[in-house]
Amino acid sequence: MAANHKLHPKPGSAVRLKDYDPDDCDGIDKEEAAEEMSQLKDRLQTLQERLYAEGKQALLVILQAMDAGGKDGTIKRVFEGINPQGVFVTSFKAPTADELARDFLWRVHRAVPPKGHIGIFNRSHYEDVLIVRVNQLVPEAVWQRRYDHINAFERLLTDGGTRILKFFLHISKDEQKQRFLDRLKDPSKHWKFSTGDLPVRERWEDYMRAYEDAISRCNTEAAPWFIVPANRKWYRDLVVMRTIVGTLEAMNPRYPVPEPGLEHVVIPD
Ligand code: ATP
Ligand code: MG
Repeated sequence: MAANHKLHPKPGSAVRLKDYDPDDCDGIDKEEAAEEMSQLKDRLQTLQERLYAEGKQALLVILQAMDAGGKDGTIKRVFEGINPQGVFVTSFKAPTADELARDFLWRVHRAVPPKGHIGIFNRSHYEDVLIVRVNQLVPEAVWQRRYDHINAFERLLTDGGTRILKFFLHISKDEQKQRFLDRLKDPSKHWKFSTGDLPVRERWEDYMRAYEDAISRCNTEAAPWFIVPANRKWYRDLVVMRTIVGTLEAMNPRYPVPEPGLEHVVIPD
């Protein structure tokens, strides 16, 4: 595991987001980041192909953030150029009536990546202890038990050969304001703006408490959380990319052993 302790809190410790600076960029500049990013992109392509060819392990990448936190941009920049056959994205919106009639993990379990694939969750089952908790969509007794349900569910996946990486893209409240204003100024970004995001912004502190609990209570060795400084987009992308590539390196997927005798095969005219 690419265990950078500045980003990955110690499992079992109580996380306080105030201790994590959304502006941090670890002393590197944009040009250095771009160069490293392009090398890591090549490496990701190779590792993804090997994961697919091997067909024995899977990687699940979970992205959570406040609105305008950069989930979409991160997915776009980290995974551009990857063979679309081996990677798929699932976005979790407010549950449908059909989904609400089942347990909260039902829709999530159906979306986990099969062996050989990388699955990306744009929002996830963590919404069920975030917006659901802040907006009191279910009684506290119900959401309180979900942390255990989530840990057991993630353990089921990791025991079966799926690696899980969970990223909280950490922006400041000021940065969110700036990004909302940019969206309002640019007509080509209007579609990204929803007045429905404003009441969520008003509850910023409640969300931070909910994130702190979700990260503290569901941060395991097998399915670690990473708190990504996300005010600078290029640094955010680099951190996520490094962590994914480091994890795939550790998973070390191998091409399967070829059929014997391939060197004697003659292709008929
Ligand atoms: P995003 O906001 O992720 O960039 P979007 O704007 O295209 O995407 P929305 O229609 O805003 O999509 O859908 C996401 C909304 O669904 C968020 O407000 C999120 O909190 C909510 N949501 C996701 N999962 C749940 C859940 N389990 N229960 C209630 N609300 C949920
Ligand atoms: Mg939205």
